[in-house]
Amino acid sequence: MTAPKERIPSGRAGRSTQSISNSDVLIVGAGPAGCVAGILLAREGIRTIILEKAPPGYHKICGDLLGGRSLLFLDGLNIDWTSKQDEGLLIEGIQVHDEKGLKSVAYLEQKPGKDPVGTTLRRDLLDGFLQQKAVEAGCELLHGMRFQEFVDREDNAVLCRASTGAEDRLFRAKLVFGADGAWSTTARAAGMFKRDSEVMLLAVRGYYRGIEGLRNTIELYPLSNLQPGYAWVIPLSADVANVGLGVRADVCSRDRVRLRGELLRFVSEHPGLSRRMKNAKLEGPVQGWPLAAYGSVQRLSGPHVLLLGDAGAFIDPMSGEGVFGAMQSAWIAVDVAREAIRRGVFTERSLAGYDDRCRRFFDADFGSAALVTGLLAHPALGKPLAMWGLKQVEKNCLMDPDYARMIAGFFTGMYPRKRFLRLKWLARTIFA
Ligand SMILES: Cc1cc2nc3c(=O)[nH]c(=O)nc-3n(C[C@H](O)[C@H](O)[C@H](O)COP(=O)(O)OP(=O)(O)OC[C@H]3O[C@@H](n4cnc5c(N)ncnc54)[C@H](O)[C@@H]3O)c2cc1C
Repeated sequence: MTAPKERIPSGRAGRSTQSISNSDVLIVGAGPAGCVAGILLAREGIRTIILEKAPPGYHKICGDLLGGRSLLFLDGLNIDWTSKQDEGLLIEGIQVHDEKGLKSVAYLEQKPGKDPVGTTLRRDLLDGFLQQKAVEAGCELLHGMRFQEFVDREDNAVLCRASTGAEDRLFRAKLVFGADGAWSTTARAAGMFKRDSEVMLLAVRGYYRGIEGLRNTIELYPLSNLQPGYAWVIPLSADVANVGLGVRADVCSRDRVRLRGELLRFVSEHPGLSRRMKNAKLEGPVQGWPLAAYGSVQRLSGPHVLLLGDAGAFIDPMSGEGVFGAMQSAWIAVDVAREAIRRGVFTERSLAGYDDRCRRFFDADFGSAALVTGLLAHPALGKPLAMWGLKQVEKNCLMDPDYARMIAGFFTGMYPRKRFLRLKWLARTIFA
């Protein structure tokens, strides 16, 4: 579906006579948040344009793991997800290694045929697939088009300027969805870019070929010297893995940590992993990007604007998983947009329901995760608490498969985290 265009003379809105593309909703960013929002809006006949600054095939820096919550969400989206999922690698378990490489702290494997822990799929493939589905649903998707600013507010719409680099274009929309990631230009342009840097995470990843002993499990290596933080090995095939490391931003600046160097040191020094990686080759550069963990953004809506996904900070503070939060926030945003369009009201007050609904959905799970990571970031408590906690968890996991599954579910968010904070589970952890 192509949105109607009109021409306006030069003036406040432009340097010369420019055409305007009209839509009900203008989505900035074609990552998981923007695409899922686009699919849901277009299916309802809501005119939707998606602007994506990158060319087709863009590869977002990510760990490439779709956790159980993401898989359930994608399954329910009715986009023939299973055909795409088959291109990825099914993940059936989580291994947690201690740093000395002496033993695996916990090996948490689900039975074949049961719900998978996750699937790994490179982000260029995931995003390309979702973009194709958004177009099939009826969105107009413009690649190479960078959102720049709001240029005017009209009675019931906003006028926005975007650029290809060579030329500017104007877009008029009733609502703008900022789904443009952690550095959201939309949030900045709307005066809503205020981050609590303490709660942000920083992460790097590289692709290695030739790692020995990869299985259908992800490997986690909690970093005792950098808590809360962990390194990961996420297999994409029998010998290629996404290897990375993520740490809270305040810990990185406090301890002057350079993550790229830390990752290279880790893979060459970890006793178990370095042996398995002695013949592995790094393919491409090690690249990093910030993760807007839940709680780092306070305001999610403003007049005519909603922030989705990383732009609104929907990353799980414990695991760093953000694709699920991106898609789920898109779902809520579409619900709010539908009602706003029906009523024809797009004021700050009328859209504030988006903030409330997101909080109601995410607070319990991401909130308790933030509590735990906050404790681990404490300069004096963090390391001893992490080491002691891991030992207790290790003992329990080795003795009790139910407990082990609980820990896996707790980390991946598949079990409500509130449950783990119940006296029964706390007592079991403390007294092992
Ligand atoms: C190293 C690392 C590992 C991670 N591992 C995982 C993992 O394994 N699993 C997981 O679930 N999550 C992981 N995450 C988090 C996950 O990548 C993000 O939470 C997720 O991509 C958020 O999706 P999104 O659609 O909100 O934003 P993004 O995926 O960032 O998409 C935003 C899009 O907006 C576009 N854009 C930006 N600015 C503009 C503009 N001005 N105009 C037009 N377009 C614009 C960008 O090009 C991009 O395509 C990881 C993150 C990092 C950094």
